[in-house]
Amino acid sequence: MSLEYTADRAEVLVTNANTIAERVAALNPNARLVCVSKFKPASDIQALYDAGYRHFGENYVQELLEKSKVLPKDIQWHFIGGLQTNKTKDLAKNIDNLYAVETIDTEKKARKLNEVRVQSEKPLINVYIQVNTSGEDQKSGVSPDEVLQLAKVIVDECPKLHLEGLMTIGSIAQSTSSDENQDFKTLVQVSQKLEAELGTKLRLSMGMSSDFEEALRQGSSSVRVGSNIFGSRPIK
Ligand SMILES: *Cc1c(COP(=O)(O)O)cnc(C)c1O
Repeated sequence: MSLEYTADRAEVLVTNANTIAERVAALNPNARLVCVSKFKPASDIQALYDAGYRHFGENYVQELLEKSKVLPKDIQWHFIGGLQTNKTKDLAKNIDNLYAVETIDTEKKARKLNEVRVQSEKPLINVYIQVNTSGEDQKSGVSPDEVLQLAKVIVDECPKLHLEGLMTIGSIAQSTSSDENQDFKTLVQVSQKLEAELGTKLRLSMGMSSDFEEALRQGSSSVRVGSNIFGSRPIK
């Protein structure tokens, strides 16, 4: 896996990322931009790294393992893909600089991630509970009324996990409508309730290329942007 990039490619990537970063900062100066690099070569990530970017999101455990092996060790990796319980071990054991897993949606996955991190004596991992705010059957995530129970397991029983926030992928319909996004609104409400219960502040991971500005207007503090930075992806 080569990390060499051309000046032309770096210019495109950095210009795109800087443009997004400015738009993010204009709406919420404290928000984080996670560059979603799935299917894109490690050299693309290296180019953005050299321009100062550190937070990157990946969807597939194998792909993340391969990239994390060759790329700088101070990259803050976010795992944002569907997590299978049987892949949890690979993810937790082999990537020291795994910053966050954003797709926790069962107690079993939380406990497993914690257990592997305890056994392997690795640093703690930030986690996000993925909430199915749209109620669509095909979407992963816990329903809003199950969030508190899962949060309590993470906070009370998983010392190697830190609950950083809640994450959602809104429905396409809400993302393309010009009105307030009801899925984002739901996440904000769930989060406010949970913050009151736990007495802590939480981050909200919501918003992608098509809707990150609306997400920020509604209170997002972490946006996951892929195609606006890297260009379109091949269909795998
Ligand atoms: C792929 C992906 C993104 C980035 O999507 P873009 O539309 O390319 O910005 C964000 N979040 C998740 C969970 C993804 O799978």
